[in-house]
Amino acid sequence: MTQVPHESVPVVIVGGGVSGLTAAMLLRSCGINSVILERQTRARVEERQRAGLVEHRAVRMFEQWGLGRVLHGFPSNNLLEVRVDGQSRLLTEDLPDIGAAGKSVLQQALVRGLVAAFLADGGDLRFEAADVALHGIDSDRPVVSYTDRDGQARKIECDFVAGCDGDRGISAASIPSVVTAVHRYDYGIHWLTVLADAPAPRYALMAAGERGYAAHSRADRGPAGSTCTSPQRTR
Ligand SMILES: Cc1cc2nc3c(=O)[nH]c(=O)nc-3n(C[C@H](O)[C@H](O)[C@H](O)COP(=O)(O)OP(=O)(O)OC[C@H]3O[C@@H](n4cnc5c(N)ncnc54)[C@H](O)[C@@H]3O)c2cc1C
Repeated sequence: MTQVPHESVPVVIVGGGVSGLTAAMLLRSCGINSVILERQTRARVEERQRAGLVEHRAVRMFEQWGLGRVLHGFPSNNLLEVRVDGQSRLLTEDLPDIGAAGKSVLQQALVRGLVAAFLADGGDLRFEAADVALHGIDSDRPVVSYTDRDGQARKIECDFVAGCDGDRGISAASIPSVVTAVHRYDYGIHWLTVLADAPAPRYALMAAGERGYAAHSRADRGPAGSTCTSPQRTR
């Protein structure tokens, strides 16, 4: 019978998005090793279009943990344009006790920076990890199994599993329902995001009016790229 390679590490992080990468970097700052298992390719993770703003608390966190370099070079952005019934207002986060300004950073640019910094620091990030499954997560030594990009089945034993694979990911689904209490209110809407070949707005823009809510922000397609987001009814 083929032996499944078995490793051991303090923390296995499922998901190499912005939260998994940040968790790994923070753990590394404390001298704690981790392995990140990400099911997508590196190229996919680094180009996935999503958020555009890192708000001041997150900026402060990166700086306080010595990770300010991942935000270096991105413009500060304390202004948000809010339009209500067509009336425009510029909101600012420039409050005296904030201590750090928010930044305009496309999420994929932040992810690229975190991937580069983690790998340069000797971090263990495994892309194209398929069939990730959690075993014994109520025990002292849980095991995470997966299939690597060469099709080899693998197992990693650990002290902790950090589920950073989103609220619909395998991690949340693996937690026994008897130890969780999920509080959710379904408003019957979800987001529709459109990547448009249109001039980006000067400031991140949010608008509310008779016909609902929409947002407009810069995207990663040069100066002309922007995304428009609007909630859509699901029922
Ligand atoms: C249009 C839009 C605009 C937004 N704007 C903002 C904004 O301006 N500011 C802001 O702070 N937030 C914003 N957000 C929210 C922000 O994008 C999310 O909060 C963020 O992506 C969450 O990061 P995450 O790492 O938890 O999850 P994700 O980014 O979803 O990463 C999860 C990772 O887990 C991987 N994964 C999933 N399942 C598995 C599995 N079984 N095995 C291994 N890996 C797996 C995925 O491939 C992915 O890489 C916006 C979101 C959208 C959609």
